[in-house]
Amino acid sequence: MDHLPRATSSASSTRVVDVLVPVALNQAYSYRVPRGMELEPGDVVCVPLGPREVIAVVWAHNDNPDPRLHNRLKDVGEKLDVPPLRDELRSLVDWVARYTLSARGMVLRMTLRMGEHLGPERTRTGVRLAGPPPQRTTPARRRVIELLSDGLLHGKSDAAKQAGVSVGVIDGLVDEGTLRAEPLPPAPPPPAPDPSFAMPDFSRAQRSAVDTMRTLAASGSFHVALLDGVTGSGKTEVYFEAVAEIIRRGKQALILMPEIALTGQFLDRFASRFGVRPLEWHSELTPRTRARNWAAIASGAAHVVVGARSALFMPYADLGLIVVDEEHDQAYKQEDGAHYHARDMAVKRASIAKIPIVLASATPSVETEVNARKGRYQRVVLPSRFGGQHMPQIEAIDLRREPPPRGRFISPRLAEEIRIAVERQQQALLFLNRRGYAPLTLCRACGHRFACTICDAWLVDHRFRQRLVCHHCGFSMPRPDACPHCAAEQSLAAVGPGVERLQEEASALFPEARTMVLSSDLVTSIETMRSELNEIAAGRVDIIIGTQLVAKGHNFPRLNLVGVVDADLGLSNGDPRAAERTFQLLNQVIGRAGREQGFGIGYLQTHQPEHPVMKALVARDREAFYASEIASRERTGYPPFGRLASLIVSAGDRAAAESFARRLASVAPADPRVQVLGPAEAPLAVIKGRYRFRLLVKSARAVDLSEYLREWLAAGPKTRGNLKLEVDVDPQSFL
Ligand code: ADP
Ligand code: ZN
Repeated sequence: MDHLPRATSSASSTRVVDVLVPVALNQAYSYRVPRGMELEPGDVVCVPLGPREVIAVVWAHNDNPDPRLHNRLKDVGEKLDVPPLRDELRSLVDWVARYTLSARGMVLRMTLRMGEHLGPERTRTGVRLAGPPPQRTTPARRRVIELLSDGLLHGKSDAAKQAGVSVGVIDGLVDEGTLRAEPLPPAPPPPAPDPSFAMPDFSRAQRSAVDTMRTLAASGSFHVALLDGVTGSGKTEVYFEAVAEIIRRGKQALILMPEIALTGQFLDRFASRFGVRPLEWHSELTPRTRARNWAAIASGAAHVVVGARSALFMPYADLGLIVVDEEHDQAYKQEDGAHYHARDMAVKRASIAKIPIVLASATPSVETEVNARKGRYQRVVLPSRFGGQHMPQIEAIDLRREPPPRGRFISPRLAEEIRIAVERQQQALLFLNRRGYAPLTLCRACGHRFACTICDAWLVDHRFRQRLVCHHCGFSMPRPDACPHCAAEQSLAAVGPGVERLQEEASALFPEARTMVLSSDLVTSIETMRSELNEIAAGRVDIIIGTQLVAKGHNFPRLNLVGVVDADLGLSNGDPRAAERTFQLLNQVIGRAGREQGFGIGYLQTHQPEHPVMKALVARDREAFYASEIASRERTGYPPFGRLASLIVSAGDRAAAESFARRLASVAPADPRVQVLGPAEAPLAVIKGRYRFRLLVKSARAVDLSEYLREWLAAGPKTRGNLKLEVDVDPQSFL
């Protein structure tokens, strides 16, 4: 069969394969296959690349290598003992690279992120008590012996850590014969989830959705379903039934989440449904866990994987289902390296692999909503909250008529409602999507404003950290006592609110209440984040003050009141999706209220209660919002009715960036269906000392925009020196 030596046409009998290396290169390189090695496309190999050895993947047989190059080709070093990358994943890599105009090697890299322990896990050494006590005892030795007195085999480094000694102490005891070293058996495979462990009783409204999910999972063909239901309607419980069906069929399921740090509660819920936690995949895994999880995914030992967007590029042995939870979330867009949208690429992977995919959301993206309206996606509706709970009522507070006192941000009405909620021992959430204490600091004496030295941005006052911080590059400086400009002392004023300042205000208004700030910059690790969320869920906090971190995926059973401090914040940033984003975010935040106790309420502090987003929220009329938003996208040719791409040119020198952007624009291929707008200075004109210019490319939906861009860039000026050109197809950020 395939393992017979292949006939070769070249004079030499040596075979050649094209190997894709995980570096910023688009083309595969040819290597000779050493005698006795059998290689097929997908095999993971080690190859020499310049002075290094890198892990890479055989992409194709090369039956007609250029004979002149033949003697200069290097040999494949080694074939690794891991399952080959399947056709399905290699096609995805090619497709994503082509669509996003990224180097194929960079996309491949995402599939090989298994940490430094690539390949079969190293055998680890264990030790156990085996002989007489040592000649000389020390406190350290005594602790080790006591720890191992159970006679069992312990991992060597674990034992050292637990006994609080260096590994050398253990080695010494092995040399003296007190301990014996033995190889540790390999880690057992992750326990299998049990699809029948604890299935809930579904309500009547849920039952037909559950049936659809099971049928979908059983179909084993490409099919997109939009699971559409308000927060708390049971979407998670319902898509778990699709997952259960996949487990029964012995295939793997992938559940994508926008923010893996927030999934602690989710992992527990999964465990109460299926008996064990799923496998996690995200960037914060330790190298050893990463290697082990990668191997479990590739071998098929992992049945269900929960992960951030990068989990999409894992080498599943037999993927049968993808679920994209909160499919509208913009965290699915990867903004550095390859600019890809994980939800869209997930749909692509499902179509290549011919498997079903479920997109779940209470406020679908306009793109997905249009696909559902046109019948390209099947809409599966959960009409109401589970258990007869109501969605929160929403009221606008017109800040023009009911402003907060000077220098304060909580209006009298909102303050009064919070007071009542706290008195009734219910939780309240103050939502403000701004980290830190104040977004701007200025000198009252001379008007000097503190700006980043290398970005076009104000420095944000962070009182907890006692520093002024740039949110774009991370630059920070201590908050000075005197103005660096005019030397006036005690003259600095904080302008505008951040969550830290709101906490100060809330504590002043409600001195008895326990407050907690949840903000990504205050989170030191996933574990502390998870424990803080548990504190809240357990009711040990009265007033939560949070950024969008709190909007996502959390169930706070005692939370009944949500106050949005600045509902207009996201509306005025020049982003074509500003209205959609604001609608989704505010819906999601307010949806946190009243999930278990019934009657939640949300207050929107706004200067424009007549804005369509505010009106749709207050009237709880989702359809009105989509109707107006879809009509406006259609009229203006914005996605999904047209296509967009951004080209961002940056350089250390402003004139160089601008002139390059102009030259680029001047050679754009003429096509009546494509419009090139700009170049214009980017809204964030300088980041990290680099001046930025943007071109926006807008085309009809039928145009292959990636191909258009490729031709354009191939013919256009080449970046040199520190000039950089970034391509962002389907941009989500316009800064
Ligand atoms: P969503 O994902 O739509 O926000 P969830 O699946 O989180 O909704 O469900 C909301 C709450 O209702 C959860 O606590 C969930 O466990 C509970 N729930 C939903 N459906 C059922 C059911 N059929 N039986 C028991 N509890 C349910
Ligand atoms: Zn900066």
